[in-house]
Amino acid sequence: MAQLPLYDVIIIGAGTAGLPAAICAAERGAKVLVIEAAADIGGTLHWSSAQMSAAGTRRQKERGIDDNADLHFADVMRISNGNANPVLARLAVDQAAATLDWLDDLGFDFDPVCPTIFYGHQAYGKPRTYWGRDLGLSLIALFRPMLETQIRAGRVTLWLSTRFQSFEVENGAVIGVNAVRANGSAVSARGKSVVLTSGGYAANTDLYREIQNRTQYQKAFCPTARGDGLVAARGIGAKVINGHLYTISTLTVLKDDVFPSPLSLRVNTIPQNRPPWEIWVNDHGERFVAEDEPIIDKREKALEAQPHKRMWIVFDDVIRRDSPDIVLAWFEPPMTEPYNTHKAFFKADTPEALAKLCGLPPAALAATIADYNKGRADDADRFGRGHMPRSISQGPFYAIRQQGGALSTTGGLAIDGALRVLNTQSQPIANLYAAGEVIGAGQTMGDAAVGGMMVTPALTFGRLLGQTILRW
Ligand SMILES: Cc1cc2nc3c(=O)[nH]c(=O)nc-3n(C[C@H](O)[C@H](O)[C@H](O)COP(=O)(O)OP(=O)(O)OC[C@H]3O[C@@H](n4cnc5c(N)ncnc54)[C@H](O)[C@@H]3O)c2cc1C
Repeated sequence: MAQLPLYDVIIIGAGTAGLPAAICAAERGAKVLVIEAAADIGGTLHWSSAQMSAAGTRRQKERGIDDNADLHFADVMRISNGNANPVLARLAVDQAAATLDWLDDLGFDFDPVCPTIFYGHQAYGKPRTYWGRDLGLSLIALFRPMLETQIRAGRVTLWLSTRFQSFEVENGAVIGVNAVRANGSAVSARGKSVVLTSGGYAANTDLYREIQNRTQYQKAFCPTARGDGLVAARGIGAKVINGHLYTISTLTVLKDDVFPSPLSLRVNTIPQNRPPWEIWVNDHGERFVAEDEPIIDKREKALEAQPHKRMWIVFDDVIRRDSPDIVLAWFEPPMTEPYNTHKAFFKADTPEALAKLCGLPPAALAATIADYNKGRADDADRFGRGHMPRSISQGPFYAIRQQGGALSTTGGLAIDGALRVLNTQSQPIANLYAAGEVIGAGQTMGDAAVGGMMVTPALTFGRLLGQTILRW
């Protein structure tokens, strides 16, 4: 190792957290090495909606929105069911406005509707959600020229298509890293500090099963999110936490029923945007929640408790004709007549025939529909549902299979408030830092989807590491 070039900072992964870390450290004059497994920078930002959340930003003030970090923190702890790490959530929300104002100063391509209240996750008490017009790609477009400037200035060295594999450790301190290039050749470097920003493990179904103890349903991840950083850190004694926390979405229809499956479309099951006309049934052909329950976490937790974490959205021909379109957005070319063509869309003349197509118990589905119709007529729905504009009685009958699943990985590396990776005795591993999904979504979101609380902390912690925390 001693003969290898020595970098002030080695950053593993040029994604959401790694890019601001590299840029900010280089702007402070550090000699930075960035190691990136993919052929391009950006990581999950190529896929992510990259919604961000921050309170007390300039954009809020310009719009007369009175907000502050205390309110944001209270909302994060409320929505995360008290399961977010209060130290890290506090750090993230305290610095979030500075992160968003920084993006503003850099000319970030904000969607003009932002800041807004977004109901696809449990809503914040104030309009404090932001995104770029081109979602995650807007952030890549912002950071790419900044990184290139630092590369041209000789402060950043970028190794693309190079997969980090392991740490070099001396007397308990990390002193360097080992990686392998696309052609199979080994490469190593020494660093005064090493920052793990290598993302989650959504693309590694075995590790997903091991840490989350669940099936990975959705294929919407960055293919290099294989958990390499987490596994290597665990190999030198780092502690992995929060695998038990989990959250699923009630919005996604998958292309296939072999998992993980690509996303096909999103359905609008958000009662604040489209009050429901349909009923939702589980594998037993039974309803399990008021479909207009306003708290999304309750709808998501109810779905999570169902067999195979899936449900069928059931309706009839009148609802199909009269209701607003339930399809929110297609991820693939839209189909005008998906029923009995798409693997998740079913149509039949009777409830019993529909149930047979879906693999549901026919008598149970027919009884559930009859029970819903009776509850509607009596204005006494058994789940307390209020919005019931039509009965379900006019064939043909339809069903859309909606599969719950998670985009991010909740378990990850334990870190302290200075973003130092902790070992199993909760002591910092010298010279090793982490930010982004490698620390797990549970740290800032608990067991719920807390709007923007992955991308904003990833950017913020990356920026903090580069701006103030790292020393060399
Ligand atoms: C479809 C989708 C939508 C989402 N929407 C939102 C949202 O709206 N708001 C929100 O807050 N969160 C959202 N998330 C989650 C959020 O986008 C991610 O948690 C976050 O972007 C992860 O940032 P990161 O820096 O940790 O990882 P990444 O951005 O994935 O960066 C990690 C980088 O490390 C590289 N890498 C991995 N292994 C190695 C290795 N061995 N050697 C070298 N490099 C390596 C990867 O190639 C990658 O470039 C979404 C996620 C998905 C998938």
